[in-house]
Amino acid sequence: MMNQNSNPNVSPDSYFGCNVFNEKVMRDRLPKKVYEAVMCTRRMGTPLPRDAADVVANAMKDWAVEMGCTHFTHWFQPMTGITAEKHDAFLTPLPGGNVILDMTGKELIKGESDASSFPSGGLRATFEARGYTAWDPTSDAFIKDRTLCIPTGFVSYTGEVLDKKTPLLRSMEAVSQATVRMLRLFGNTKVQRVVTNVGPEQEYFLIDKSSYDAREDLILTGRTLFGAMPPKGEEMDDHYFGNLTQRVSDFMRELDVELWKLGIYAKTEHNEVAPAQHELAPVYTTSNIAADHNQLTMELMKKIALKHDLVCLLHEKPFAGISGSGKHNNWSISTDDGQNLLDPGETPQDNLQFLLVLCAFLKGVREYAPLIRIASASAGNDCRLGGNEAPPTVISVFIGDDLQMVLDAIEQGKALDDFGKVRFNLGVNAMPQFRKDTTDRNRTSPMAFTGNKFEFRMLGSADSISCFNFVMNTIFAHEITEFCEELEKADDFQTALHELIVRSIRENKDIIFNGNGYGDEWFKECQRRNLPNYPSTVESLEQYDRPEFVALFEEMNVLNKSEISSRKEILLDNYSKTVFIEAKTMLDIARKKILPVCISYTKQLCDAIITKQNISPMLNISSAVEDVLASQISDLTASLYDSIEDLRECLSDVSRIASSLEKAKTYRTSVIPAMSRLRTTADALEVLIPQEQWPFPAYSEILYNI
Ligand code: ADP
Ligand code: MG
Repeated sequence: MMNQNSNPNVSPDSYFGCNVFNEKVMRDRLPKKVYEAVMCTRRMGTPLPRDAADVVANAMKDWAVEMGCTHFTHWFQPMTGITAEKHDAFLTPLPGGNVILDMTGKELIKGESDASSFPSGGLRATFEARGYTAWDPTSDAFIKDRTLCIPTGFVSYTGEVLDKKTPLLRSMEAVSQATVRMLRLFGNTKVQRVVTNVGPEQEYFLIDKSSYDAREDLILTGRTLFGAMPPKGEEMDDHYFGNLTQRVSDFMRELDVELWKLGIYAKTEHNEVAPAQHELAPVYTTSNIAADHNQLTMELMKKIALKHDLVCLLHEKPFAGISGSGKHNNWSISTDDGQNLLDPGETPQDNLQFLLVLCAFLKGVREYAPLIRIASASAGNDCRLGGNEAPPTVISVFIGDDLQMVLDAIEQGKALDDFGKVRFNLGVNAMPQFRKDTTDRNRTSPMAFTGNKFEFRMLGSADSISCFNFVMNTIFAHEITEFCEELEKADDFQTALHELIVRSIRENKDIIFNGNGYGDEWFKECQRRNLPNYPSTVESLEQYDRPEFVALFEEMNVLNKSEISSRKEILLDNYSKTVFIEAKTMLDIARKKILPVCISYTKQLCDAIITKQNISPMLNISSAVEDVLASQISDLTASLYDSIEDLRECLSDVSRIASSLEKAKTYRTSVIPAMSRLRTTADALEVLIPQEQWPFPAYSEILYNI
């Protein structure tokens, strides 16, 4: 069953989702009443009765065993950023040494796990190390490596959130409640449920396994910590959308098949800007499923690459000087009656609803920009954000010229005709049919309106998308709730709505920027507009527990104060650990690999000089080149040694700091600059030393050999 796809002539629709306990399997295998109860839980978020859970658990177990599984696991997403699983066999012992294969409803719904090995940011002392995983019935169980994986949230014994899924689910609930309430004001009595959707475009590098194995920095940190620029970078723009090589194409085809079997709608694949860089985009789906699918996609990319003797790098900046990898998070909101609320629509009524949603979005982004910045903060992403290859670190929203024209007209009390020309009438009667395809041109904005969705472009390639989405959802739900409160009090809905839209545009238009986000001009303009700029992870994380942010998350029932503090603590700690490991790896490579090579090559040059001097009285052979090289390399080797010592001292200073914020700050202001000095010297040496003596493969060997 699981290998039915090995024949390339088998059509994907015959095996799509074959490893998933999806709605179709449930319809076939569950009694009608139980099936309906599960569907109700999935669509409306109502709890599933315990006896129904028992039936589901049994059907799931039977299906999994038929598919060759022996184990099940609660699959969860702790704050480590990767997924975790603890496998249990289906076996239950019977008297007389027999066993039955079993999984109860209780085992399906709730698992107990030793939480002490996962980051909790001080939420849970080790003596009360129990944590619980709780089934998320809205995301399908699936089979991976002969194990039934049950998507779950992860909370502490006392109920505090320890993972990335739970706040996302809560934020989706908040969006649904707030938005249904808003739709009622527009006279919609049908809609019961609103969901947020995500289509994440995933960038990654593929390199040869042998190059990877020869680089301790890639193995230990996921990125190169040394490496001079190759003679050819991305100047020629010849990789983007270029032909796929056979190896890459074979990898992508196998990845597709494995993703399709897991019901993941992998759709678009192409080469990216940098050499050896590629992208995969699935068809969008509900946020929490998209988040689960993206985790699985990243996991499978790594696994399948290895089968092709390749290594998939998900680090945000594997190669200095070469564009890094991000993840574009396409975000929209839709209703169970089939509307995309970010679609401007065609009737005046739809237009107004769209404008209100747009205003809530703009207002939310302006008020809570630091939280959105935090959602993309990591040590890895610091290497690419603001570097003119990815969006700047200041949050702004691109809406495009046509939509801008509409907002301007509304704010100034003018109306537009169908061609965007100002019309006599006042008010927000109808919007022109603005050309949607003009909205997707700006590639430098952190957040761009692209016709019927917002594309958030700041996320790092390795990030879980949960964080941005729970933040964005919470902010949006909050703004919509505030709008509802105002509109519900109004005597005349239409007038109040009009006033609210005009006011929101006026008060929040500073967050809109339609120009080039990479230029210096924008940097000056953001200062004039007073838009916050947190250049690195550390400054942004410092903002996380500001009272207004705590109030936001508490009001929307997404996170409480101690959960936010714990997240801040975990993320700061994560940052410091990442830089610490990178610095230690650099020291190791510099001391044990680069320094010895430099010394021995200097000796070779000196030997050559002596040899020439000994014979030159007769032959008059000059050793000028060797002299120059030997002295250059000796000088650089001396500064290499100094830089090593300097970095070593910085690390020892930082080890004495107790506070996690101070520690992270010192890593940023002292350790990272010391790493960069060491790298500059080492890279200068790489250029001077024979390639076959240099202790690891150069950029050109890694980037151009697939
Ligand atoms: P581009 O590179 O131009 O941004 P892609 O086709 O690579 O476009 O990716 C677009 C992504 O946006 C896909 O994952 C797609 O499914 C997703 N998407 C399209 N419509 C929506 C929507 N309404 N809500 C969320 N995501 C969407
Ligand atoms: Mg895109």
